[in-house]
Amino acid sequence: MTGGPTGRAFVVVDVGGTTLRVGRYEEDGQRLIQVIRTPLDGLGRYPDAPAAVLQRRVLMQVAQTVESYLGSPAGEGVSAVGIAFAGPVTADGVVTAAPTVWGGGGSAVEVGAWLRRRLAMQTHVVNDMTASVWRYARPGAADADFCLITVSSGIGNKVYRDGVVLVDRSGAGGEMGHWPADPTAEDVVCDCGGRGHLGAIASGRGILKSARLAGGRDLRAFRDSMLGASCAADPAMLTNEDLVRAIRFGDNFALSVLRAALRPLAQAIAAVHSAIGIGRYVIIGGFATAVGDQFAHHLGDQLAGFGCFGLSDDQARSMIEMGAPDDDHALIGMGRMLSQVSPAVDRQGVRHACPGRG
Ligand SMILES: [Zn+2]
Repeated sequence: MTGGPTGRAFVVVDVGGTTLRVGRYEEDGQRLIQVIRTPLDGLGRYPDAPAAVLQRRVLMQVAQTVESYLGSPAGEGVSAVGIAFAGPVTADGVVTAAPTVWGGGGSAVEVGAWLRRRLAMQTHVVNDMTASVWRYARPGAADADFCLITVSSGIGNKVYRDGVVLVDRSGAGGEMGHWPADPTAEDVVCDCGGRGHLGAIASGRGILKSARLAGGRDLRAFRDSMLGASCAADPAMLTNEDLVRAIRFGDNFALSVLRAALRPLAQAIAAVHSAIGIGRYVIIGGFATAVGDQFAHHLGDQLAGFGCFGLSDDQARSMIEMGAPDDDHALIGMGRMLSQVSPAVDRQGVRHACPGRG
């Protein structure tokens, strides 16, 4: 899709909840190199600071880090900067919220415009999941359309269709994790405060909570399982690492917890498929990739179990695939996205609507 004789390079940035990462993406070989990581001067380090203070700190840190990166050998010959931000971003590069970065509240910030002026360079700002989509996008392919789903401490998604990531101009879209999968689940409270949301049930955190509750309900079965052996037989002491190990080992208690948690995720996928016909689902995120291929296997079982309209069981299963087991999705995706959008910018000197907006 890219590469060729131009051999351009971009600085790619991932502003996450706890870590700021900056790297160099080269079109030749489509490779990400020289990644540096810094603790972010946001909510993770200063949990009591007001949002307005953290907004200033984070923006200054991002600007200074990128400036010093551009001035180093790693920044040589760079033609554009791409920032992936953990929050909704409008088509004009305005970050409207970033609860994991600077907490709830805080006004919308024109991150794109501010950084373009400060860095004096083409700078694109998009949501981190939107950037991640481009790592797995196959523009022009017959089966190009897909949905990216992340399963880590929460759940998020983005749909890629006909060369663009589907969000509205305000950046809304991709919040599958806040779909009320089970409104009757009064005790399952999401980060957003809602009840029974998918992200509170089928995320790594949600599945761990379910395992602890199931262990408390049936202590004997729990103690007989691999989980009981891993946490001094106390369900409250169970960790995600214990749970992942037991699932990978095939422990029945752990698998029954996993299957129950994956059912609403499979329902969400069946709904997306039947509503808009997306037939490929790429799963990323720390919990899912730690479980590995078994995650896709059990999610596929759930899908096949209640059926997907118009699909055989095997076809339903084959819609699920696992993404790469690393945390470079937003950086690599941003590099690939810039390869798509910046030729027009470079030639005409104006900023065009970015296909990866949101
Ligand atoms: Zn929610």
